[in-house]
Parts: sequence; structure tokens; C-alpha cells
Amino acid sequence: MAIATLDDVLPPGRAQKYAVGAYDFMSPTMMLGIIDAAEETRTPVILQFPDGACMEDLEIFAPAMVAAAKKASVPVVIHLDHGKSIEACKRCLDAGFSSIMIDSSTQPYDENVRITKEVVALCKPLGIPVEAELGHVGQGKDYDPDNYQYTDPKEAAAFVEATGISALAVAIGNAHGVYRGKPRINYPVLEETAKLVSIPLVLHGGSGISDEDFKKIIKMGVSKINIFTELAQEAGARLKAIENEKLDVFSATEAIRAGFKARTLQKIRLFETKSI
Ligand SMILES: [Zn+2]
Repeated sequence: MAIATLDDVLPPGRAQKYAVGAYDFMSPTMMLGIIDAAEETRTPVILQFPDGACMEDLEIFAPAMVAAAKKASVPVVIHLDHGKSIEACKRCLDAGFSSIMIDSSTQPYDENVRITKEVVALCKPLGIPVEAELGHVGQGKDYDPDNYQYTDPKEAAAFVEATGISALAVAIGNAHGVYRGKPRINYPVLEETAKLVSIPLVLHGGSGISDEDFKKIIKMGVSKINIFTELAQEAGARLKAIENEKLDVFSATEAIRAGFKARTLQKIRLFETKSI
């Protein structure tokens, strides 16, 4: 099956009301746990490499992602999560990524459109779809649903039209990392956005959102869900559970891989991800 793109895996999800998980990782062991879960369920998966501290080692990680995708028997998307600059996007394209997110959501609308369009122009000739964000998905530690930069549905429709992106990350009460308090999804904003935007919608900050909310969100048009924190928490709990005398690099590596696999499996089932 090997390397796939967002255009391969997301539209069937939007049409059939299921979601494909996009799982971040920061080490090959974590990545292997995610792939194990996809293989076991025979479902497509989006491997996400975050534009952050690890970008320094992109050229080392990327060949491993490409090799893992080629070896896999299921479709694997090699995706840049939250590309912060056009330069970062170019580096990922050169390194063999099949999918790019450019995040200029902290910029004013016109600037967000300009930068996103530039990335789409770079990616389109290569057949690579682009995800972008409108409204702003902030950090869970600052979470305050009453003082939040929600996606404006009409602006979202205009943004998709102007930029030619393939997937739109929406801000509907979601946030990255651990939420301060309980997440509160703004369903009217999601409903209106889904009505006006026909491309797949993306939910960032999936860790901590309830199973009931997920089911509702997916039925309403979200077909890519980003998860990292819950995977890391599961692996962390398994590390802590190892008896002291048995704790070494081997048992730790195994716990991380098994933790990432287990929580990815749980999300694949919850999102009802289907084989394509
Ligand atoms: Zn995100």
C-alpha cells in the first residue's frame, strides 16, 4: 500500500462519517507503535512529525518514516504537523513527505491566505495536499472556552476557496495538550462550518475529548483527528508500572512501543477508521 496522501484517506471518511487519526511521535519507537496499530486493524494512518524541537533531526527521521510507509501493508500518510514556515515545508517536501500542514493561524486573515497559497503552489505540482488552520487552536494550559478564537464559518468557506487547501483545521473549543478544565466543543460553530465547507475538517488537540463528543464531531464532518498527549500518557503509565529491577532500556523501549500501539488502537476503534 505504502505512501498515501490526505486526498486518499480523508474524503472517504468525510463521506462515510468516520475519521482517520493523525498521531504525532518524537522517536522511531513511538512511530513503530502507531504503525503496529494500523497494521493490526488494516486501516490507513497519518504519521505526523511536528515542526518543533525535533525539526533539527528531520533529515534523520524522514527516511525512517518513508521506509516504514513503504514497508507497511496499509496506506500511510507522512505529514508535517504545524509547519511554521515555508522553509520548513520545503525541507519536508525534499525529505519525501506526502502531506504538509502550514499553520499561519496566528497571522491576520490576509497574511494567512497569502502564506497558505504559497505553500499550496509549492505542493500542488508534486501532487501533495495541504492542510491549513483558521481561527486558532491554542494550548490546553491556557484553555478558556469563553475567551477563545473560534473559526468563523463564513471566513472558513472563503479561506478554502481562496487557498485551494485539501483539509481545514478548525478551532471549535479544542486545544493542544492537557486541557485546563473540561473541553467544551462549540457545536453551532462546527455545524455551520461543515455546512459551508465541503473539504474534510480537522480537529487538533484530540487528547481529553470525550468519546461521546468524538462520535458527534465525526458525524458532523471532522475526518482527521490529531492525537499525541494521550499516547504519551499511556506510554508514561506503562513505564512507571515496570518494576524497578526490571527497568532497563529494553523494557522501556517495549513499554513505549506497546503504549503507543494500545492507545492508537483504541482511537482507531473509536473513530471507526475504515480500510480503503
Ligand atoms: Zn495542532
